[in-house]
Amino acid sequence: MAAILLDGAAIAQDVYAQLHERIQRLHVRGIQPGLAAILIGENSASRIYLKNKARACARVGVHSEMFEFPADCSEHEIFSKLQALNADSRIHGILVQLPLPAHLRSERILQAITPAKDVDGFNWVNLGAMVAGHTLLAPCTPLGVMTMLDYARSPIEGRNAVVIGRSALVGKPLALMLIARGATVSVCNSKTTDLRQYTSIADILAVAVGRPGLIDGSMIKPGAVVIDIGINRMPDGKLAGDVDFASASQVASRITPVPGGVGRMTVAMLLANTVTAAERSLGIEVPYPAQ
Ligand code: NAP
Repeated sequence: MAAILLDGAAIAQDVYAQLHERIQRLHVRGIQPGLAAILIGENSASRIYLKNKARACARVGVHSEMFEFPADCSEHEIFSKLQALNADSRIHGILVQLPLPAHLRSERILQAITPAKDVDGFNWVNLGAMVAGHTLLAPCTPLGVMTMLDYARSPIEGRNAVVIGRSALVGKPLALMLIARGATVSVCNSKTTDLRQYTSIADILAVAVGRPGLIDGSMIKPGAVVIDIGINRMPDGKLAGDVDFASASQVASRITPVPGGVGRMTVAMLLANTVTAAERSLGIEVPYPAQ
């Protein structure tokens, strides 16, 4: 393998160590950061994600609570809970685990989280701020990607960055963050006629689609930094990304694995956002992303 592995687990450890210090400083001021998670319905993957998030909270000293609702609950019940959590001074971050049962409108529910506690960064206030070149609380996965690029000391300014996938929660905010850092950014989608035309000029290639093997080594510019955001459950039960790791790692200069790459960073950034929100609740000005 020619490429250097960008190890999400190792970088996340480093992030947790820094968070631990920030949390200690908050403890001195009588504050323990608190994260509230809402789980609606029975979804085994969502339950596992939330368990991992709670475990990470416990490791760094963030208080976490989970509130469960049955699959047939009403939007009104969720709004009431969110209203109470918005007003609860022990809670600095709130998340609603997606996906939601079909009768619940996730866009409406996500808007009911007050932007200052929206640690998933999905509220339109937080997403919209990025369009204006500001970051209040950013979505965790794109924020994790940017953190990985910085750890890799991968230059961003002046580079060609190609983001494949234009979802509101991953591809689009990542493109905005890369634009804010001075990259020249192309964003591809399912209608893009010649993906290779874009991937072959990418100094930074970030893939967030959900199709295993969409990108192989022949499509990658030699020396590119390849960030594989996709998570796909394969027939044998194993996880795979959107990038064919075996061929891509022969061409790229740096590459993230799946599992053990961006996914680890997503959880770390959720905690970072929670600590940032807790600091801001005390009026502490936090440079963003906080170092
Ligand atoms: P999504 O909402 O389904 O969006 C997928 C995007 O891929 C869409 O913009 C779609 O284009 C585009 N696309 C589909 N087929 C394509 C093709 N052949 N060529 C180019 N673009 C194509 O998914 P998402 O929420 O952004 O998630 C994407 C992947 O990242 C999934 O595998 C998900 O599990 C993973 N993910 C990982 C993490 C993590 O922590 N690592 C976090 C979130 C998501 P259109 O807009 O034209 O349909």
